[in-house]
Amino acid sequence: MRFVSTAGRAPSVSLEQAVFAGPAPDGGLYVPETLPELTPPVGGGLGDTAFLVARCLFAGELSDRELEPIVRESLDFDIPLVALDEGISSLELFHGPTHAFKDVGARFMARLMLHFLDGRATVLVATSGDTGSAVAHAFFKLDGIRVVVLFPRGKVSELQRRLFATLGENVQSLSVDGTFDDCQSLVKRAFADRELDHDGRLVSANSINVGRLLPQTFYYFHMFAQLREAERENVAVCTPSGNFGNLTAGLMAKRMGLPVSQFIAATNANDVGPRYLTTGEFRPRPSLETLSNAMDVGNPSNFARMLWLYGGDVDAMRRDVVGFAYSDEQTLRTIESVHERLGYVVDPHSAIGYLGARESDAAARVFLATAHPAKFRETVEPAIHEKVPLPRALHESANRPEYVTEMPVDYEALKDYLTSS
Ligand SMILES: *Cc1c(COP(=O)(O)O)cnc(C)c1O
Repeated sequence: MRFVSTAGRAPSVSLEQAVFAGPAPDGGLYVPETLPELTPPVGGGLGDTAFLVARCLFAGELSDRELEPIVRESLDFDIPLVALDEGISSLELFHGPTHAFKDVGARFMARLMLHFLDGRATVLVATSGDTGSAVAHAFFKLDGIRVVVLFPRGKVSELQRRLFATLGENVQSLSVDGTFDDCQSLVKRAFADRELDHDGRLVSANSINVGRLLPQTFYYFHMFAQLREAERENVAVCTPSGNFGNLTAGLMAKRMGLPVSQFIAATNANDVGPRYLTTGEFRPRPSLETLSNAMDVGNPSNFARMLWLYGGDVDAMRRDVVGFAYSDEQTLRTIESVHERLGYVVDPHSAIGYLGARESDAAARVFLATAHPAKFRETVEPAIHEKVPLPRALHESANRPEYVTEMPVDYEALKDYLTSS
C-alpha cells in the first residue's frame, strides 16, 4: 500500500514514510492510494475483526507476524455496542487507558512507530488535554521512545493533567507558562530545527498522522459485527466530530465495503462541517468554546481527506453524510434526559452523537460514545443530579505524584531541555 497526498502534487510514499512525515510536502495530507475491499465479518471479537481489516489495509507493508501483535496490543480493551432504546445503540470507545476514543489511534500509531524505528526517538506533543494523555499513555514504557508533553499551565483540567503528568518513566511533562498556542508554536519550532536531530529522531504524533487515522476503521467493522442480523440491513452511524478524523475513518470503512447506509456528522456550535454539507462551501472560522471542548475546532484538518474521498463533489458526499450542529443547551438537556429516560450516562461529546443518531430513521442507529462521562463530570454531574463514579485509571492517577518541569515560553529553554535530559 502506497500513500498519496490529498493535494495530489507530492510523490507517493511508503507506510513508514507516511507515519513519520506529518503533512505531505505539497501541504496535503497522506491517504492510502487505494482502499482495499473486504467482506465485513460478523460475530467475532474485536481483536479478530481488527486484524482482518488491518491485514487488508497494510498488505505488502507489514507481514501478518509483524502486524498481529501491533493490532492486538493496541486494542487490549473492549469496545462494546450497548443497546439503549428505540433502535439506538452506543458504541463505547472509552474503555482504553485514558477513557477517550483517541486511545485507539494513539496506541496503534505508537506500536507502528516502534516497529519502524531503529535507535532512539523523542515524541514531542503539545496538548490542551485529551491528545497529550492518549499519546503519553500509548508510548508509556515502550523501549527507546521518550515522550515530551507540553501543556499550558493551569489551562488543562486536573483530571486530564494527572493522566499524563503522573506517568513518569519515559514520559516527561513540561508545564509551560503560556497558552496552548504557545505550546504548539514551541513544538513547531523544534520540528523545524535541524540541530535537534542529533540525539535520536524527533517525532510528531499529531492528529493528522495516518498511523492514528487508519486503525479507527477497525471499530466501525467491530460495530457492524456486533449488530443483529435484522439490524445489519439498514445502519446509520453518528460521529460526534471536531477534526473529522473519526468520521473520515468511518467513510473509509464504507469505501472498503462496510454497509452503512448513512453517516451523520454531528458537531457543537463549531459547525463548519454541517455547513459545508448544506451550502457546498467549506469556510473555516475561529473556533468557539463549548462544553464538548474536544470538538471545538474551527478548521477541521481531516476535511481535506473527506473532500479527497469524494473528489470534491459535495453531492456525492451528501449521499453518504448528513450534518447537524447542536448547542450547549441541547447538549445539557440530552445528558439529563438520556439519564432520566434510559438510565444511561453520556458525556457532552457522546450526547451530541446521541442527538445526531436521533435524526435518522434507520433500523439500527449507532452513535459513537467518544469519552467516559467521568472525564467531564463537572458538566455531567449537575445535569444528572448525581455523582459519576471515576473509573479505576482516573481514580488511581489522583493518588500518584506528578512529574512536571516548569518552563517559560522560551524556545532556547525547550531546546536545552530536549538536548540535556
Ligand atoms: C477528539 C475527540 C472528538 C472529535 O474527534 P475528531 O476525530 O477530531 O472528529 C470527539 N470526542 C472526544 C471525546 C474527543 O476527544
